[in-house]
Amino acid sequence: MMPFFDARFEQSATPFYLYDEQEIRENARRFLGAFAWHEGFRNYFAVKATPNPHILGILRDEGMGMDCSSTAELALTARIGMGGEDVMFTSNNTAASDFMLAREMGAIINLDDGGHLPFLAECAGLPDLISFRYNPGRQKTGNAIIGRPEEAKFGMPREQLFAAYAAARDAGVTRFGLHTMVASNELDNAYFVETAALLFELVASLTAQLGIRFEFVNLGGGLGIPYRPSQQPIDPQIISEGIKQAYQTIIVANRLSPLKLLMECGRYVTGPHGYLVTRVRHVKRAFKTFVGVDASMHNLMRPGMYGAYHHITVPAKAHLPHDQVVDVTGSLCENNDKFAIDRPLPPLERGDVLVIHDTGAHGHAMGFNYNGKLRSAEYVLRPDGTITLIRRAETLDDLFATLMN
Ligand SMILES: *Cc1c(COP(=O)(O)O)cnc(C)c1O
Repeated sequence: MMPFFDARFEQSATPFYLYDEQEIRENARRFLGAFAWHEGFRNYFAVKATPNPHILGILRDEGMGMDCSSTAELALTARIGMGGEDVMFTSNNTAASDFMLAREMGAIINLDDGGHLPFLAECAGLPDLISFRYNPGRQKTGNAIIGRPEEAKFGMPREQLFAAYAAARDAGVTRFGLHTMVASNELDNAYFVETAALLFELVASLTAQLGIRFEFVNLGGGLGIPYRPSQQPIDPQIISEGIKQAYQTIIVANRLSPLKLLMECGRYVTGPHGYLVTRVRHVKRAFKTFVGVDASMHNLMRPGMYGAYHHITVPAKAHLPHDQVVDVTGSLCENNDKFAIDRPLPPLERGDVLVIHDTGAHGHAMGFNYNGKLRSAEYVLRPDGTITLIRRAETLDDLFATLMN
């Protein structure tokens, strides 16, 4: 609960993001440690969640690969010295220029559609190793963020996979992987075990039918975090145990070749360890009470975009009764620009500091400039207690830099 919010921040310009490096490292070690039984386990951190080279460098040092979906994300990983099969390229509706950079970097390419195979061959040449993204359709229920699998734009139905791997094999591809991602922010441990079993079975069928050998399955990201205080965190140990059993009964028992087990988690890795810090600007009493803060939806889009809950605390008033029911709002000319609706908080006044929790993933990254709003700075709290600026706040000059007159 942000125990470190202290006098060091009293004078800081708000809003800003703060990431806790020690927490990120400890969480990464717990997560990876849960899968220590499998030497081929690796998490490729979803760069889009927290695309800051300082944070990516921490995760690289903890042993993670990087999962990218665009030229900019590939360029960021190259900037921290990563390439080759430390990088997974999982994109959709992909531009030729994206494929060209991914090939140049030697990244593992995960195709969203069979039709992308000839496109990739044409624009960048085929690599030895190809993965395809599976969409299980009605076999899985999906969830609110990604939606029902058969309505989702991602991945390929089962029958198409057979044809796509055969085409890849016939075109000279010799190494294969299989990917899926059907849920986002999922808190049910069993969900990930079922998904792994589904992929293991599919690998067994594809191997039997096509005579190709799979090197990995990639379960995608989607491990959830408890945004609400009432929610239970997932338990990587339970997920790992379940996957281990499925691996034994489907892969080992059928004498299939060993499979690396890959994931692409972003949110679970950094989400709980980032905080958006903002100050109260005005308290307005109309039909409701609106606590206007100096951050807006352009700093954190999740509540406005998905109705997502983010816990909010007031460090200096934590001991007071939370007996005021208020909407916490930004200053965009959009009524969904609210960080909380009907939230019980202590009595607030101008200058009070609010901390918006669990913003370490898909927070700053989703920022935008509508209404000419500027994206905030990012800081990291280092394990030695010092604070480092890892991205300065935008200025009006940044905003106007692309204008031609
Ligand atoms: C967004 C995304 C991820 C990361 O999702 P999290 O919810 O942050 O774990 C991983 N893989 C793909 C393909 C994605 O689109």
